[in-house]
Amino acid sequence: MPFSEINTQTVVQFEGVTKIYEGGVKALDNVSFSVNKGEFVFIIGPSGAGKSTITKLMIHEETPDNGRVKVADFDIASMHRKHIPTLRRSMGMVFQDFRLLPNKTVYENVAFAMEIIGASQKQIRRRVSTVLSQTGLSDKWKFLPSQLSGGEQQRVGIARALVNNPKFIVADEPTGNLDNDTADGIMELLDQINKCGTTIIMVTHSQQIVERMKKRVITIENGIVVKDEQGGYNHAGESL
Ligand code: ADP
Repeated sequence: MPFSEINTQTVVQFEGVTKIYEGGVKALDNVSFSVNKGEFVFIIGPSGAGKSTITKLMIHEETPDNGRVKVADFDIASMHRKHIPTLRRSMGMVFQDFRLLPNKTVYENVAFAMEIIGASQKQIRRRVSTVLSQTGLSDKWKFLPSQLSGGEQQRVGIARALVNNPKFIVADEPTGNLDNDTADGIMELLDQINKCGTTIIMVTHSQQIVERMKKRVITIENGIVVKDEQGGYNHAGESL
């Protein structure tokens, strides 16, 4: 489908994308998929399959060698560098290793994401309080990351990703450092956030999580999309 025909509900579109790194490694080979507003999509595949390359293209850390990547309203290959901060603000990122600021409290970690976009203290107080409540952290707002469990730290990471009302959230192995029960709590939270309307793209190795959540799963191997299934159905909606 040419870009001109993209449905306005599309938040991410890869169209015949090839990425070849210096040294000749073809990390992605003619990859096509699109993610619509409101979807919850897993991207799975073995190490070296190309998952991080997909994420890097979405944040303009890399650009495609062939094909097109469209994120929010930006065409990654042709956009001007000065728009990269706006592109990155359109999404929330959640990381495996949380990436919290160690000397800032829970409140300050989340507030910081709003300060850097110039929000007023009044807006910050109101919005941070809302997302801390949504992520189950209201009574932890004064704590430092070192005083929190891994699951709580990841909740802070999710609150920070949500605070600026992103068009979508990219979660890169968000449960990778957590035990199974804690991971389940994080998945429940992400599911709730998705049900409130936020699009989620999650990269994971966990077959168990993917099987339980019954969401759309894009499987990538050797840079190729080998499966794109919607909870037991392929993405065209046909029974497998
Ligand atoms: P995954 O995230 O699924 O583990 P990646 O996207 O990181 O996979 O990597 C896909 C392939 O591209 C791998 O073969 C990897 O070694 C290679 N690769 C990734 N980044 C670079 C880079 N900066 N330079 C050269 N090769 C790279």
